[in-house]
Amino acid sequence: MVFGAPYDGTSSFRKGSRFAPDSVRLAYDNLESFDPRYGVDYGEAAICDLGDLIELQSVDEMVESVSKVTSHIFSRGKLPIMLGGEHSITVGAVRSAGNCGMIIIDAHSDFRDSYHGSKLNHACVTRRCLELLGPGRIVSIGTRSISREEFESPEFNGVRFIRAEDVRKQGVQKFFAEIRKIAGDRIYFSIDMDGIDPAFAPAVGTPEPYGLSDCDVRDLLREFSKNVIGLDITEFSPQYDNGNTAMLASKLIQDFIGSRTS
Ligand code: MN
Ligand code: MN
Repeated sequence: MVFGAPYDGTSSFRKGSRFAPDSVRLAYDNLESFDPRYGVDYGEAAICDLGDLIELQSVDEMVESVSKVTSHIFSRGKLPIMLGGEHSITVGAVRSAGNCGMIIIDAHSDFRDSYHGSKLNHACVTRRCLELLGPGRIVSIGTRSISREEFESPEFNGVRFIRAEDVRKQGVQKFFAEIRKIAGDRIYFSIDMDGIDPAFAPAVGTPEPYGLSDCDVRDLLREFSKNVIGLDITEFSPQYDNGNTAMLASKLIQDFIGSRTS
């Protein structure tokens, strides 16, 4: 079940991710509906778009709203695909996901305990998820931006951070077994689009060079799609786009659905 969570209240640099859900929908509508790789006709796939959540003022209210709607979706045995919005909304979905592991795509460690006065700032996502799921359950892939304070915090080793540089050197497949071991067989998959290199995904709130490739993230989604219980795509700011970020976001969703169905 697809829904939009249009919120960018804590975004520190290039705001605008609140406009992302419709931009992804528009791109998705322009993709070919049949995919011979998976033998799937997306026109017949069981996908339902619930529309967007109401944009609320505070991050606490927004995260709570996400938590409510995802908890309804989980309790019906369905899979939420959430279109952000900034990354902070992920915490709401993980709150209601129950016992699971997690794969995060992100340039940033998002490991601050609090930022600009809020524990739910988009710079604190991984840390909040660690508190919810416990150590040894989360893999964050594409890391290349960490503050000293985050790096030196005692909890930092509770998450396995895989650097974008190491993925580039060794190939993403090299990490599949380790990721599976950590994330387990019920996985919440969160894509902060800035994990991908700005060459492929230029329109993000806080871009970072030297990132993952589009195909790295596609391959990760394909490899783990059958274990994924929830997916989100966040931090896409359409007003900085040349069209590529929207197309990639929608294509990743299509690949996810296709590889699950095949
Ligand atoms: Mn993030
Ligand atoms: Mn990020």
